Amino acid sequence: MDFLPIFINIKGRSCLVVGGGEVAHRKASVLVEAGATVRAVAPEFTSTFADFPGIECITERFQTCHLEGVMLVIAATNDSAVNQDVSQQARARNIPVNVVDNPDLCTFIMPSILDRSPLMVAFSSGGASPVLARMLRGKLETMIPQGYGRLTAFCARLRNTAKARVAHPAKRRIFWENVLEGAIAEKILAGDETGAETMLHSLLENENTEQTGEVYLVGAGPGDPDLLTFRALRLMQKADVVVYDNLVSKPIVEMTRRDATRIFVGKERGNHTIPQEEINELLVRLAKEGKRVLRLKGGDPFIFGRGGEEIETLAEHGILFQVVPGITAASGVSTYAGIPLTHRDHAQSCIFVTGHLKDGSMNLDWDALARPKQTIVVYMGLHGLETLCAKLIEHGLPDSTPVAIVQQGTTQNQRVITGTLATLPGIAQIEKPQAPTLIIVGGVVTLREKLAWFAPNKSGASAGEHNA
Ligand code: SAH
Repeated sequence: MDFLPIFINIKGRSCLVVGGGEVAHRKASVLVEAGATVRAVAPEFTSTFADFPGIECITERFQTCHLEGVMLVIAATNDSAVNQDVSQQARARNIPVNVVDNPDLCTFIMPSILDRSPLMVAFSSGGASPVLARMLRGKLETMIPQGYGRLTAFCARLRNTAKARVAHPAKRRIFWENVLEGAIAEKILAGDETGAETMLHSLLENENTEQTGEVYLVGAGPGDPDLLTFRALRLMQKADVVVYDNLVSKPIVEMTRRDATRIFVGKERGNHTIPQEEINELLVRLAKEGKRVLRLKGGDPFIFGRGGEEIETLAEHGILFQVVPGITAASGVSTYAGIPLTHRDHAQSCIFVTGHLKDGSMNLDWDALARPKQTIVVYMGLHGLETLCAKLIEHGLPDSTPVAIVQQGTTQNQRVITGTLATLPGIAQIEKPQAPTLIIVGGVVTLREKLAWFAPNKSGASAGEHNA
């Protein structure tokens, strides 16, 4: 974090704008809107200043004495020497200073703002790309209707009433979320504040103090946060506790609510940090404590994810739960590797199997797998790769059948290694792919030569880093 975002109360305080052009005027106007007493200093002013009576204009060149008693200063001149001087003098006096379009001379920067007062949203790119910050603001403009100002004011008005009635902070938060996500908020947005207030009071009357928690079993997809569903994201923002394992990529874990407790129950091959039974019990215990528990799993919870077992235990204990599907590795990873799982010329069917070794062997129906025009997707198959390839050849697939290993698919660390049933085990020994890896067998793998579209920027980011 290069800058700490804060909101400052400047009501009635003296602020200085150095500059007399359009930009200076715009900055001065924002300060006036926030209630400051604004003085502008410049050898000359555009006519717009004359139209704005709230700004005191001093027709002089900037001098140090203009900083006297000032709470913050903005330099918006087109003279870089003056801008530099303002920055230096202000810093010497510990006065926060902003020089327009010059982050190096700033001790604070002005965000792009979305104003639904009293609700304010501020965007900043730390000076890197104001255009990007403004574009994001534009997107949110469409998502946060004007009525949100009224909604926020309504909450402010009834805040103390709710506080007196629902003493427990966690329960109060849930109460407010119910208000803001449901019919009461809709009423306010539709303009019926009286109706909304009546509903809120009756909700307060019926506030059930015995409320129990809930579990959200959510699929987080294969790694790229862009592949989350809207519902996953909403529940991620709502949970009090997040229980996740090592398949869930770091950037996704970081998108969960900031003040939620995060519990890592990572499962690496042969190293089950917490046995499955204990995870099941943990979810039950947390929900019984009244928490909203987000059980976040890689891919889809119902595909090789033991999600079924987890909710079976919840159901036995009568705990409320909901399940959110995610993009499973077979789908997400193959797509990002440029390998369609079915294709008219290569495969009419596709089969998902787990290649997990049990006592050193794979318990699979090899005859069902070794069929022509079928794609086989193998989860957890890397350690059994050699056996897998040998068995498929033994059961009739040509040893020239194309195979791909996709490492950390959809992330910035994605790597694709290709070969054939005959050659790939040897290639893998040299290339040493890193977990998690998905194996794709079949003619469709050759399509990658034409269709590969995703180019991870390895030097770039940790954007898709796995916890593994
Ligand atoms: N429920 C998950 C699968 C869990 S089993 C899902 O639906 O995707 C774990 C296996 O999934 C890993 O061993 C690997 O084979 C596969 N996998 C998950 N994410 C992956 C990724 N980003 N890249 C490659 N393989 C992945």
